[in-house]
Amino acid sequence: MRAHHDVPIRLKLNAIVLITCAVAILLAAGVFAIYDLTTFRSGMSADLATLADVTGSNLTAALTFFDSKSANETLASLSAQRHIVEACVYTADGKILARYMRKPAAGNSSAPALRPDGVETTQDAMILFHQIRLRNQTIGAIYLNSDLAEIHERTRRFELISSVAVLISFISAYLLASRLQRIISEPILELARAASEVSAGRDYSLRVTKKFHDEIGLLFDRFNEMLGQIQQRDAELRLAHDRLEARVEERTLELKKEILERTRAEQALLLAKEAAEQASEAKSEFLANMSHEIRTPMNGIIGMTELTLDTELSSEQREFLDMVKASADSLLGLLNDILDFSKIEAGKLDFEQMQFSLRKSLGDALKAMALPAHKKGLELAWRVETDVPDQLRGDAGRLRQVLLNLTGNAVKFTERGEVVINVEKDSQDGEEVLLHFRVKDTGIGIPKEKQAMIFEVFTQADGSTTRKFGGTGLGLAISQRLIKLMGGNIWVESEPGAGSTFHFTARLGTVAGQREESLSLDLSRLQRVSVLVVDDNRTNRVILAEMLAGWSLHSETVDGAEPGLAALTRAAAKGEPFTLIITDLQMPHMDGFDFVQQLRTLPGCRDIPILMLSSSAQRGELALSKQLGVGAYLIKPVQSSELFDAIASLVCTSATAAADNAPIPEAKGKAMKVLLAEDNAINRRLATRLLEKHGYTVIETENGRAALDALEHERVDLVLMDVQMPVMDGFEAIRAIRTSEQGTGEHLPIIALTAHAMKGDRERCLAAGADDYLTKPIRTAALLEALERLSHPPAASSPDRCLLDLPVPSTWDVQAALSRMEGDRELLEEIVHLFAQECPRTLEEIAGALQANDAALLERLAHTLKGSSANISATALCHTALALEMQARSGDLSKARDAVESLEEELQRLLPELQGWSAKVPHEAMHEIVHEI
Ligand code: ADP
Repeated sequence: MRAHHDVPIRLKLNAIVLITCAVAILLAAGVFAIYDLTTFRSGMSADLATLADVTGSNLTAALTFFDSKSANETLASLSAQRHIVEACVYTADGKILARYMRKPAAGNSSAPALRPDGVETTQDAMILFHQIRLRNQTIGAIYLNSDLAEIHERTRRFELISSVAVLISFISAYLLASRLQRIISEPILELARAASEVSAGRDYSLRVTKKFHDEIGLLFDRFNEMLGQIQQRDAELRLAHDRLEARVEERTLELKKEILERTRAEQALLLAKEAAEQASEAKSEFLANMSHEIRTPMNGIIGMTELTLDTELSSEQREFLDMVKASADSLLGLLNDILDFSKIEAGKLDFEQMQFSLRKSLGDALKAMALPAHKKGLELAWRVETDVPDQLRGDAGRLRQVLLNLTGNAVKFTERGEVVINVEKDSQDGEEVLLHFRVKDTGIGIPKEKQAMIFEVFTQADGSTTRKFGGTGLGLAISQRLIKLMGGNIWVESEPGAGSTFHFTARLGTVAGQREESLSLDLSRLQRVSVLVVDDNRTNRVILAEMLAGWSLHSETVDGAEPGLAALTRAAAKGEPFTLIITDLQMPHMDGFDFVQQLRTLPGCRDIPILMLSSSAQRGELALSKQLGVGAYLIKPVQSSELFDAIASLVCTSATAAADNAPIPEAKGKAMKVLLAEDNAINRRLATRLLEKHGYTVIETENGRAALDALEHERVDLVLMDVQMPVMDGFEAIRAIRTSEQGTGEHLPIIALTAHAMKGDRERCLAAGADDYLTKPIRTAALLEALERLSHPPAASSPDRCLLDLPVPSTWDVQAALSRMEGDRELLEEIVHLFAQECPRTLEEIAGALQANDAALLERLAHTLKGSSANISATALCHTALALEMQARSGDLSKARDAVESLEEELQRLLPELQGWSAKVPHEAMHEIVHEI
């Protein structure tokens, strides 16, 4: 089908012309033939009619006379007409009168019957019937049958002539067409050739020559135009291409230059990076050294100031030294902040992953804030939602740092009202929990526009606050970074004048299979306890009521002592007295002590156990509480576990008995020998003085080697080892001690002392074999605590422990004692003098009572000693006396001897201190005691 599309145009044009000619000739010949035949046939029919008419006229006589012979003769004349095959003459009634046959042999066939006038043409004959009339009367009819041989002959001839004519025409047409088609095909072919040439040679300068002005001429023009355009575009393209190439070349050169420069820059960067890394390492090293260098003298300043403050001073000197101490403390705080910040920025801060109790660490942390808060008369409370898991995994120290910073700020910027810390669970998935902490205060607040800014380094909401409140503007920046490292966020909501709420979240690990906080006692024993809660602070009341409700204890809360007394009277009148009273100590109008004194006078209230919550933690409060018959004294903010234990002990009789049998706190430092290795002379002296003050015997050495030598011939109970020392450093010395212990089964407790506080120090100390680690400057409490911990590993905690335990009691807190006397030194001197005079006598009486097995007398004497030692804030002695009192009360004096011994030892420690403080204290008191022992 498509084949004809591919035929050359020349042949196509020939074919078109030939086919057109052939069709035209054939059509013309056909039309002509049809016309000729039709005309010939009608002429023949007219001739036959004329012949019939003429013959009929010749037959009229024969017909008139029915003369058949004559008729036959007339018909026979028809033989001249070669085409007449047969003829008949009929009479008027249709009978055949005469008949003529061209070939008589065929005469056997019958003549046709007469038919009306007319001519009929069949395949090969023309038949005619014609009436013969005489004077308008039909006298007969004639029939003529003519063959068509002439017509056939004519047709044959015509066909022949037509064929010859068609052939000739065809040939001539072909010849003509072959010549004439060139008029059209030649230019097209020329165009095609030119196009091929252009395409093959890509020579767009070629042009075709126009010969005609017809459409083909137009095509030539357009073709040429097109070539012209292509040529121009080609030229432009080439130009553009050339330009591009030139540009590319230029750019390549530039790039090569750039690459070269970049390579140089990279090399320079690499060198710079290496230099920066070295610098950073050097910076860390510098920080570590700086920290050491600054902390070491700081240790001396703070420690020596503390020691000097314990000596006799004029009030002006004391004031100045207090200022020195406060400045040193804040300098140390600043140093710690800067160190922390640089550690975070240098990515050197390591996060510990230790298991810890959230509630305990929160409680412990906030206890540290209790004093500053209560000094300002602020309520400090905290609350952990019950669905928050207690045992968590993470860096409790860093969490505590953030909390202390936020709580510290809250306390700092709040003049009245409260600071409340709330912890709830945001989400928990798998082994992680996201906790949401809120630290809310009722302080000065922060304006909206300053809220984002305060998280930046060295930024404070109000520059002028620095003078008023102090601070560096680093705390929140550090907290924010620490929180980020804990996978959390920090933000603030605040209204100036209405207080602030700092929110932060922290992601901490959970500990699989942990049980709920273990409660010391069977809850069922507390089921019917009803508690009266007396506290002026609403938040505290809510938290206490919530804690009590959590243990299914019924409680009623009142906002002061007066409504408390009313509630007690009401309950007693109803015959449903309260089982327990929890009262705040610091309340307006009537404080907790007055409240207790008054309620004891109410009917039915004499024996209700009382739990006192104190904000100020003044040491004398404990003794006074005890004198007033307060069963338990806790320092706010209280942890739910300690509150529960206290309630359980107060309410359950077994608990009381157990409390009476509580182990007597052992006198610290008793006969303990400590080996101290420290190169700095001041620090050595300071630590020695500190330790000796608390009853420890100290062997001083200047470096690790000297320490090892000392250990060769001295048996000690504990080693305090500075890590940075000349000759042999602490790490090496610790390792040497541990090596020498191998196979002996011995383990000498070692506390490492370091001023570095840098990443990895703790690990290095512990890896070397130290049991504990303290950062300089050494805080007395922390040192004593660590010594205590290591020399007396904690016994399994007894659920029914002594409720009256305060944080590590000190031998004598002269400041507390002075403030009890409202700063009246003379009065204190007088009291101390009396106390020192009285003591030996009391001790003698105690020994006598013990010998006589007089428990009642022993209890009274111990009670008196407890009271008088509380008066002068000799807390350790007060504790020991209390322990003796409890043992005497229980009636079992078997352990009392030990308690009396402890009492004597405590007095031996106390009296020199008293004498050292005031010349008025009699020296003979000491001899009397020594004699007593
Ligand atoms: P610092 O307290 O040492 O100045 P911080 O980074 O801890 O530094 O705090 C930055 C500033 O944010 C503070 O100086 C204070 O202006 C503001 N700020 C922080 N906490 C509180 C708060 N609880 N109430 C009011 N202002 C606060």
